[in-house]
Amino acid sequence: MSSTKEKRKTPRVKKRGTRRRRQTSIYLLLWAVFSVLSLFIVLLFVISQQVLLNRTYKTEAAQELNEKSTRIEHTILNPPPYFVGRRSELLQYLSNENDVQIFILDDEGKVLFPHGVGFDEDQTGAGIPLDFSDEISVLKNKLETQKTALYEGDGEFVYGSKISLYEDSQEYLYISKSLHLVQTVTETMRVRAVSTSAFVFVLAFAVSSAVSGWLTRPITEMGKKARQLARGDFDVDFYGDYSEEMVELADALNFARDELSKTDKMQKELLANVSHDFKTPLTMIKAYASMIIEISGDNPEKRNKHAQVIVDEADRLASLVGDLLDLSKIRSGINALKLSLVDMSAYTEEILGRFAYLQETQGYQIVTDIQAGLNAYVDEVKIGQALYNLIGNAVNYTGEDKRVYVSLQQIEPDVFRFSVRDTGKGIKQEELSTIWDRYYRSAETHKRPVKGTGLGLSIVKTVLEKHRFVFGVDSEYGKGSTFYVDFPLVSDETEKIQPNA
Ligand code: ADP
Repeated sequence: MSSTKEKRKTPRVKKRGTRRRRQTSIYLLLWAVFSVLSLFIVLLFVISQQVLLNRTYKTEAAQELNEKSTRIEHTILNPPPYFVGRRSELLQYLSNENDVQIFILDDEGKVLFPHGVGFDEDQTGAGIPLDFSDEISVLKNKLETQKTALYEGDGEFVYGSKISLYEDSQEYLYISKSLHLVQTVTETMRVRAVSTSAFVFVLAFAVSSAVSGWLTRPITEMGKKARQLARGDFDVDFYGDYSEEMVELADALNFARDELSKTDKMQKELLANVSHDFKTPLTMIKAYASMIIEISGDNPEKRNKHAQVIVDEADRLASLVGDLLDLSKIRSGINALKLSLVDMSAYTEEILGRFAYLQETQGYQIVTDIQAGLNAYVDEVKIGQALYNLIGNAVNYTGEDKRVYVSLQQIEPDVFRFSVRDTGKGIKQEELSTIWDRYYRSAETHKRPVKGTGLGLSIVKTVLEKHRFVFGVDSEYGKGSTFYVDFPLVSDETEKIQPNA
């Protein structure tokens, strides 16, 4: 039966696996984000260099020219004593000193000062007069409304102003600074910006790839180990080193491993125990059936005795199978709780009635103390099974006096307690927590009227946990045990409110 279940399960798991949406790996995601971000920053840098650099340099050059020119103009108009009457020399000196070209022009653009530089060299090396006629008209235009002008001319920055060297005369001061150097500098910077950006981008690319790898490595590792775990290797250890979340994930996976390992161990034990307990009655049944055939077939008394053994062992098998089925059904959640309001007082009496034959035939005495009218929302069938198991155990394990005490009493305004006490050997302290485990049977299991399968308390535990009820056992070894269950009392006022179990 279990093998067909397994067969059905396998494809379901596979299906769930394939249904998973195709996701991009974190490594790729991180890498892409880092790369795009660095690309964006680099682009921003390049663009700002391209656009702003030229403008900034030009503004700075213009400002510098303006400041220098103001000083130059002032010096020309108020020459130091040495340069009085040596205007051309002064202009030469100021030109060299300030790295600019200085001319004093007349109204038509003819160079008045410095003398001897009003010529340029043509290809043959002969002097030709410098022609400022175009420049002077532009300058005059600009000086119409203002005293000084600062503007960008043909490959140079120009400062111009109207000056008066003699009485009633009108000359123009023309100071220019070549833009060549600025252009060279900005060009060099631009080329450098592009190459630096390319380098930075490649570096960012490599760094982002390394960082993404570093960040995702533990996740990939954990994935590998989780698969190992799924294949049944419980020796794997999960480590999450560098971040809180990773550590938490690793802890959770380690916890899952421990739980899986426990379940696996219990399953193996269960299988071993179940096979053993199936084998014993089957061997008995076979042996006694053979005995009937070979020996006691003609002896009605013996035959009946042997047949009775077969019936008893078949009963044992049936109850074992029944318990196993109940447990697997309850645990797998096939049967969800069907809650209804139950009069637990009447119901407990009814369950006790099922033990009447033991009282009548085997001298057991069940002493009851049941308070009437205690109601609770429960799954009637499952709770009935749990209480039956608890009473059954008490009968099974009680002492020589064959007495069992069952009580149902309100213990708090909204709680009533079911308890069943026996006078048997009790349970050792160290076994108190393990008796609820599947297939746990104490080494001192007794053979009594209610035959045990080792699954009774596991059923009780599963049912009560599903109801979220408080339950437990108090036991003193050698004096007996008391198992109890606390039910939330449904009084007349609260009766209408359904619990959300
Ligand atoms: P079983 O079918 O063996 O009774 P249970 O799951 O009902 O299985 O109980 C598990 C074990 O707990 C028993 O084998 C027994 O050792 C112990 N146990 C349960 N109830 C009692 C009790 N009332 N007194 C002493 N031991 C008990």
